[in-house]
Amino acid sequence: MNNPKIWLSSPHMGGNEQKYVQEAFDTNWVAPLGPNVNGFESDLEIFLGDNVYVAALSSGTAALHLALILLDVKQGDEVICQSMTFSASANPIVYVGATPVFVDSEPETWNICTLALEEAILDRIAKGKKPKAIIAVHLYGMPYKHHEIKSISEKYNIPIIEDSAEALGSSYKGQKCGTLGDISILSFNGNKIITTSGGGALVTKDKSVKEKAVFLSTQARDNAPHYQHSYIGYNYRMSNICAGIGRGQMEVLEDHVNLRREMHRFYMGFFESIEGVKVLNEPSQDCFSNHWLSAIILDSYETREALRLAFEKENIETRPLWKPMHLQPVFENCPYYGGSIAQKLFNKGLCLPSGSNLETEEKNRIQQVLERFFK
Ligand SMILES: *Cc1c(COP(=O)(O)O)cnc(C)c1O
Repeated sequence: MNNPKIWLSSPHMGGNEQKYVQEAFDTNWVAPLGPNVNGFESDLEIFLGDNVYVAALSSGTAALHLALILLDVKQGDEVICQSMTFSASANPIVYVGATPVFVDSEPETWNICTLALEEAILDRIAKGKKPKAIIAVHLYGMPYKHHEIKSISEKYNIPIIEDSAEALGSSYKGQKCGTLGDISILSFNGNKIITTSGGGALVTKDKSVKEKAVFLSTQARDNAPHYQHSYIGYNYRMSNICAGIGRGQMEVLEDHVNLRREMHRFYMGFFESIEGVKVLNEPSQDCFSNHWLSAIILDSYETREALRLAFEKENIETRPLWKPMHLQPVFENCPYYGGSIAQKLFNKGLCLPSGSNLETEEKNRIQQVLERFFK
């Protein structure tokens, strides 16, 4: 029982992070601006392609908050949000005084269901309020069905905020996640595919939107010699120290995606011969997932709990899927559209250790627990 802890997903440094951080100290750029911030933004712009502009921010949550502000979402508005997600997808809707309208998942990617989405839009319009935006999430790195969601967004002229916090390195029909929304966001929190210790980014194809995001994230100072303000500002810019970590991480992003995909292949191989367990997997060649987290659906809540506890006993971290937002006490009064797909996934689903830094010995310990459990 004195086995060292195996984490679900832990930071994995490439090696050059400290070099960039040291440079920041050597040149005294210890501030929320500097060469690493510009360099990290440029690294991300090159990686994502498609002529995007990236604004590096203090978190993915901050990026979502600014995305809503930039889309002019205000007090009393409504915003559609995938129910099955981390709470940070939905909280910023409340920050701006708007109401989240939650939508169920579809069973293939576990992401926002096209049919329930359209039903929600039509019903909200019938009730007198057209939603101002759609927040769609690539859960665990699995791309949502972009072309279907996009066509609904265009049909009703409602912009998409693409929550790509978990999906840097994933793509849909060859187009990188993080470039699919009207505005997109990324996260570099400690357990994401790459980390800056804490950080995020807003991605846009419109240079003026990036400029506004940077303006708002640095306290919205007007162009004047004194401090003058015509807008409410925020302190959301990324620090040059964090951006230095990000530059080092960008050098190993593709390697880390390959290693996560290898962990996923390991689980696919193991569960191939096990009845009643389904691994979240790319439904077609359209979807390329970074497999940030490998997740499985068991035959019941009881089996899920038993397996979680079997891992816990061996000091191995696993985690139930995100509890859908429409089932959260804090959102209990928000409208919800769809059936019980997200709820069923939550009841029976488990995320397994998926880090790009898992050693052979750790993989063996994981395999032993699985073999004993499913024997
Ligand atoms: C991590 C995460 C966020 C928030 O990002 P932070 O950088 O932690 O603020 C938002 N949405 C999803 C789906 C996430 O997983």
